Amino acid sequence: MPIVRGFKLNIDVDQLVRVSGGGGAQATIGQRALERYQQVVAEAPSLMDPILLYEVFEVDHVGQDRLTLTSGHEFSGRLLAKFMRTASKVVLICCSIGPRLEERVAYYQRTGATAKAYLLDAVGSLAVDLVAQEARRLVRELAESEGMSVSAPLSPGQSGWPLTDQRTLFELLGPGRIGVSLSPSCVMNPLKSSTLAIGIGPELGESGETACDYCPLKESCNFRSRTPSHGCDVATSPGPEGR
Ligand code: SF4
Repeated sequence: MPIVRGFKLNIDVDQLVRVSGGGGAQATIGQRALERYQQVVAEAPSLMDPILLYEVFEVDHVGQDRLTLTSGHEFSGRLLAKFMRTASKVVLICCSIGPRLEERVAYYQRTGATAKAYLLDAVGSLAVDLVAQEARRLVRELAESEGMSVSAPLSPGQSGWPLTDQRTLFELLGPGRIGVSLSPSCVMNPLKSSTLAIGIGPELGESGETACDYCPLKESCNFRSRTPSHGCDVATSPGPEGR
């Protein structure tokens, strides 16, 4: 099972301003606030240990509302089945930036530095998104080497895929090997972690639809079209805007 680590994550102040509700550009926020954004962006890299784990699984059957692997494991959800309708393989992925950033967020919250805590949490969400982007790039390369296409990514808990399927994903993938665990209520630890599934097969992803197109939050979501991957392809912990 490939483990990839040591990413360089490039997060700049503009990205942070966009996803943290500060408007569309640095010019729209005051000098003091801008300095806080800059401090947080400068501090964050030393608090992140980006890592991802992925594995390819053979698909036995995709029905109307479920996907069955040759191992007998099943995932359910209409959108999952739609996105992966011709998939012969599914790649399960777990991404994380480790626990240190969220520990610093908790410290800032305890000590009353709530604005810094909020901004650093947003950087963490952006960072997990960037790790997921790297995973998507690797899966695209893998599919292209086989002359195949990839589906849009989807995560347990997203768009009708039951969050409880996270247990099956963890059983198959074993994210404990990269330091990610799952609580009985299916919350990941570290919180700044994500899981996703991407199908590989013929003529997948052609519609360009993503999970955002089916999300009830899409009109108000700060992350949609503002993250590097243009949406939460990943199930991250709650962050800005309740995400
Ligand atoms: S990025 Fe926003 S709109 Fe897209 S799936 Fe996530 S919460 Fe929904």
